[in-house]
Amino acid sequence: MRASQTILGTLRDDPGDAIVASHRLMLRAGLARKLGAGLYHFLPLGLRVMRKIEAVIREEMDAAGALEFELPILTPAELWQKSGRWDLMGKEMFRLKDRHDSDNVLGPTHEESFTSLMSELLQSYRDLPKNVYQIHTKFRDEIRPRFGVIRSREFVMKDAYSFDLDEAGLDRTYQTMRRTYRRIFARLGLSVVPVEADMGTMGGSASEEFMTPSEIGEETLLLSSDRKYRSNQEKTPCVYPDAKAIDATRAATSDLSTLERLHTPGAKTIDDVCKVLNISPRDILKTVVYLADGKLVAVAIRGDRDVNEVKLRNQLGALELAPADPAAIVAAGSIPGYIAPIGLKGEAITLWDLSLTTGTEWVIGANEKNYHLRGFVAPADRQSVDVALARSGDPVPGGAGVLTEMKGIEVGHIFKLGYKYSEAFKLSVLDANGRPVTPIMGCYGIGVNRTLATIIEQWHDEKGVRWPISVAPYEVCLVSIAKDDTEIAAARALYEALLRADVEVLWDDRDLRPGVKFTDAELIGYPIRLTMGKGYFQKGELEVQLRANGETLSFQGPVESLVEQTVALRARLAKELERQLEAELET
Ligand code: ATP
Ligand code: MG
Repeated sequence: MRASQTILGTLRDDPGDAIVASHRLMLRAGLARKLGAGLYHFLPLGLRVMRKIEAVIREEMDAAGALEFELPILTPAELWQKSGRWDLMGKEMFRLKDRHDSDNVLGPTHEESFTSLMSELLQSYRDLPKNVYQIHTKFRDEIRPRFGVIRSREFVMKDAYSFDLDEAGLDRTYQTMRRTYRRIFARLGLSVVPVEADMGTMGGSASEEFMTPSEIGEETLLLSSDRKYRSNQEKTPCVYPDAKAIDATRAATSDLSTLERLHTPGAKTIDDVCKVLNISPRDILKTVVYLADGKLVAVAIRGDRDVNEVKLRNQLGALELAPADPAAIVAAGSIPGYIAPIGLKGEAITLWDLSLTTGTEWVIGANEKNYHLRGFVAPADRQSVDVALARSGDPVPGGAGVLTEMKGIEVGHIFKLGYKYSEAFKLSVLDANGRPVTPIMGCYGIGVNRTLATIIEQWHDEKGVRWPISVAPYEVCLVSIAKDDTEIAAARALYEALLRADVEVLWDDRDLRPGVKFTDAELIGYPIRLTMGKGYFQKGELEVQLRANGETLSFQGPVESLVEQTVALRARLAKELERQLEAELET
């Protein structure tokens, strides 16, 4: 491609609303432009990168025996009603009516469509296992679209669904996908950490998320120092080494008026209470009130711990969960900042967190403004639940040492789904004895645009993107600084020879100052830059620069030889990436 004939769309200045590097650089390097909240146009350079990522994913999925399909994005509501997700998915699902007044959904994911289709296509146990996928557009009306295409409302996903005869089969497919994912991300130049993920209330039996470590990641990972234990904070169990057996001889507090009343004027936070009473947060029982599907739920938890809302939601099997607003707390007979774990009016239930097994007597709120109470004892027959957020410094569950925290971006997710969808869609095949059996499913997703943005997060510097050669929009940028027609003809000869050798080359033939062209080349981040200027025209030296590390080389000789040297350099970069891949897969 010639720069004079394409649309590069690079920007000199940082766009105002782009906070993170990948978002800023995607816009500045002319990969994408914003249309609206969570909506992006892809420009020619960005589309080339998308296509390359898709090609790597497709190659690896095909090599793993998966079959590519393409299903409609627009799906009838009946599919979603059948699975129950019409009611469960809430506002994240784009719903629209057609001209016949029928409800439809712009698919946020395609379990329903694929299972329904496969129920027509699979007949016998001989048809299994099967893994089917597509690389296609998804819609999600995210509450907070942000960071460019990392969280957008329209995006491309590779979504795969597997069908196996039994759990052992599903496990084989799952492990194959796990390896496939590691290969895909390594080929894309991404370093990822697979972590155990929350399975929600869907009844799956295993799930892993593939995270790229990043400061801007919305996910928190908890890892053991040897990295053998890796878990999303959402699902990490809390372990309390100082937990005691519950003292059944201590009478539980059933009447708050029997406790010592402490005047704590204005002390609404744990910190305030600690200061006023000169105690530690670990002496306090904090009561956090939620509204779960319309019901009040009080969580009693140690003062230095936070509630993990994912665990809480799973514990309650709740669809909607949100902190109760002050009015609801007052209506239940308490005061925000001074809530006691018992004595709330109405149908409020109290959950006792496991962290309370580390103590017996607690300071609690008095359900009264400016007062706390000392000496509260929780019921001995309570059912302790783990609804606290694990954090760095906590013991490794089932292991040695303590956890450390890391931020990450989720680029992929694999999940053993179980029978939920195959049962909902009455998918069954005949076994060897002619009896119907229900296949067990798995699902496997990769966000393609999010992956693209994440590659930029990992591969950039202050000047721009530094693409790994596997996904660069062009492998080579030929910058010509030509003064006359003869020099232009020489540049054209090299450009055409590179094309003939199947080198992906962008020839910056624009009539612009060299500085502008160099700045663009660095911003866009082609791995190899060839500069044909004075050095070449006077001494026959073609200047070569690698974007990754700034290394410079000089190629000499006739055009055919320059091409050969370029091809060899490209092979070297691919080899280096491959070595990185192998190192990555070993960990
Ligand atoms: P998140 O927790 O970030 O919302 P998710 O758990 O909803 O992700 P999945 O339903 O597992 O995501 O979707 C599979 C993949 O699709 C994710 O791993 C991610 O790479 C991508 N993805 C999900 N939501 C978005 C989005 N709004 N924009 C871009 N990519 C997304
Ligand atoms: Mg989501």
